[in-house]
Order: sequence, then structure tokens, then C-alpha cells
Amino acid sequence: MANPFTLGVASGEPLPDGVILWTRLATSPTHADPARPGGMPPRAVPVSWQLAEDERFSTIVREGTAQALPAWAHSVHVRVDGLRPGADYYYRFRAGSELSPAGRTRTADDPAATRPVRFAVASCQRYEHGYYTALRHLAAERPDVVFHVGDYIYESRQADVAVRRLGSAGAAATLHAYRNRYARYKTDPDLRAAHAAAPWVPTWDDHEVLNNYRGDGDGSAAFLRRRAAAYQAYYEHQPLRVRPRDGGLRMYRRRSYGSVADFLVLDARQHRDGTAMLGAAQEQWLTARLRESPVTWRILVQPLFFSRRFVPGPPPNLRADSWDGHQAERDRIVAAAGPSGLVVFSGDVHNAWAGDLKADFLDPGSATVGAEFVASGITSRPPVTDSEAVLAANPHLRFFDGRRGYLSGTAGPAELRVAFRAVDFADRPDAPIRTVTEFVGEPNRLTFENASSK
Ligand code: FE
Ligand code: CA
Repeated sequence: MANPFTLGVASGEPLPDGVILWTRLATSPTHADPARPGGMPPRAVPVSWQLAEDERFSTIVREGTAQALPAWAHSVHVRVDGLRPGADYYYRFRAGSELSPAGRTRTADDPAATRPVRFAVASCQRYEHGYYTALRHLAAERPDVVFHVGDYIYESRQADVAVRRLGSAGAAATLHAYRNRYARYKTDPDLRAAHAAAPWVPTWDDHEVLNNYRGDGDGSAAFLRRRAAAYQAYYEHQPLRVRPRDGGLRMYRRRSYGSVADFLVLDARQHRDGTAMLGAAQEQWLTARLRESPVTWRILVQPLFFSRRFVPGPPPNLRADSWDGHQAERDRIVAAAGPSGLVVFSGDVHNAWAGDLKADFLDPGSATVGAEFVASGITSRPPVTDSEAVLAANPHLRFFDGRRGYLSGTAGPAELRVAFRAVDFADRPDAPIRTVTEFVGEPNRLTFENASSK
């Protein structure tokens, strides 16, 4: 067998005692034959794995063998538990005589721990729009955990503005096409490096299925088949704990780091209908946790611009696809967080923004109840934005940057720091990284100061 580890390795879903280890065997990543995804034979292939305390694998703490099944495109999701909290581990796979690259992962902190957690937030990485240089810099930071807030792939193709070739496929709509889209994206070495550097906790936005879709889409059987195919392909390419069932996939979940941070990861697409962004069950889960959470920082990890964003000019001035289309639901979430407030990380808009969360977004004098930090995206091209006019029309918005990049932060018992990291260009390789600005906030004092402008 040729090298089947062309898609790299990954880990994710860190708990204090365990992680998920992932790989997918593919000797030919974007193989044309739907009956042989990844060029693999239509039979189970045993994959052995090792987890070690050290990079040289001299102290193996767990090992085993998983079956890579054709029904799941020869992906494997190994659930490892019984590990130490807040600890680095290294892992690798073997199939036949071929050895995978090694990955580094890390468990979450013990519930009583007060150690600061180092995290990154990435989003929006349309392959044909640029190079994943920002992800290479993210990998070099070796954060404790990486959150991805969606548009990991784009189901469509924009050949007219391509700076690199996606390949022959147009819009993905079948399981085979979605699989090959993920495989194409994962042929990028910087994306593989970012997965190998740290455990990921991803959530999705729309383009993992279809632009701006909500819930059941048009309600047709054809759309539900397409969505089920997209969700299956998503699972097959991410280090998730749960697998799809009955055409759905449970994505909303909490990932906690000690007594410091609750990362409340939301699904803003699957349970959505004309009136509700999250659906009743997810909203109830979220607001209950916001009311009861004993940790220092309650952090929403989700794709869509959360704060009010009035765009001057011809209507529509508010974007219905985002939280401005669900203002009552947004108010209920802010109210549930109460005086201890919340922090929101989002993406989707292909520009970087930061601002205060207001008790009443229409009243600039109302209480500040937290902050939102919007990741600009790894490659996806931004829309034309009159940022000066938007900032002027929304006094709670305080920062804009139009470059590609990601968020890099630290949440600790005394402060939460969020740095906007950016590359000057993504249309050719090897851009250096810079910190554009950094915001710092303290618990119970929820106005974040722009540290670099002091
Ligand atoms: Fe996007
Ligand atoms: Ca989006």
C-alpha cells in the first residue's frame, strides 16, 4: 500500500482525562471513483495507534488498534481516556508498514485548576482564495486548544478569483464530492500542521453544507439527503466525539478549562428555523449553563456576528442571517449571563472586529456586559466594507482590521487577553505574522482595554 497518511493526523475534544485521535487513510486524496474514496480498497483496514508522553515515543502510555471502515471513508476516531489533566501527549498511527506523522495533543485542565488556558480561534478558509500561512503561524504557537468557528470548507468554487486551483469539482452536493472537498483542503501542509500542533474543537457555519442554509433548508428530501452527506463528510474529517445519527450531528457542547473558562460551542445552523437561531433545546442548554456556570469566563464559540451591526446605506441595514435577525433570542442569552457577563468569539464576515456587548444595543449609555471578538478568517476574501461608517454608526464596535488572520488568547483567573494576529497577504505563500492589537479584560470589569493603543 502507498502512504495512506496524506491527510495528516488530528486530535480534538479535550477533556481533563481524554482526547479523540483522528486520521483518515487515503492513498489518493481526491480519487475520482466514488466507490473507492481516497483510493482505498472497499474493505476494513486495521490502523494501530500509540500515545506517548514524549515526542520521541520512548514512554508509550496507551496503544491499540482501530478498524478504518469504508463506510466512514476509512477515517478513525480513537477515544483515549484515563489521561492526566493539563498534560501534553504525542500520538501517531501505523497502517501496514506506513507510519503517520506525529501529532501533539493536550488534555483539558482539572476542574479545580486555575492555570491560564492558551487558545486560538480560526475561521473561513476558502482554499482557492489563498494560502494557509496564518495556520502555520497558529501551529507554531502550540496553543492548548484551537477553536474553529466554521467555513472550514466551502461547498462552492470561485474560480474567477482563485489564487490556487481547487481542482475540477464545482459545487459539492454528494457524499463523494464533500469527501473530496475536505481531502483537497487537507492536502495543504499548513492546515495539517495546525491540526498536528494542538487539539481542535470545531463548529460549523453554513458553507460546510450550503451558503446561508438554515435547519432543514427548503424542507425537501433532496436537501436533507445533501445535508446528511455533508454532515457525514464533516464527521469523517474532524476529531469529533460523536458521530452522525439519523441525518443529524450533535455539535453544541461545553469544553471547560479548570475553574477559569467554559467554552460554550454553538451550532447556529442545524436547529435553526424562521424564528430561532439555536432551537429550543440548544437555547435551554446554553442559558442554563450561563446562569449556573461557576467559572471566571463564560465564552460563546460560534460563527455569527453577535453584536448589533447597523450598516449605513440602503436597506437592509441589519443582516438577517446573523444575530441581528434574532434580537429577542440574543437578549435572552445576554440576560441569562447576568451581571457576570460573557465573551463571544465569532467569524463569518471575513474581517476582524471587536466591540462591547451592551445590555441594550440601541442605548450607548446602557451597561457593557461583555465583549465580542470576530476572527477575520484564514483566507476567505472580505466583502467591500466601509469600516469607518460602520464604526461610526455602532459606538459599541471599537476595532476593525481588514487583513486575514486569527485570534490568539489567554484566559486566566486575573485577566483575559485576546490578540488579533494577521498576515499582510494570503495570495502568495510565506507571509510573516504580526499582532495587530491586543485587548485585555478583567473579571467583573467587562470593558476590554485595547492594550496596544495605550
Ligand atoms: Fe466564510
Ligand atoms: Ca459563513
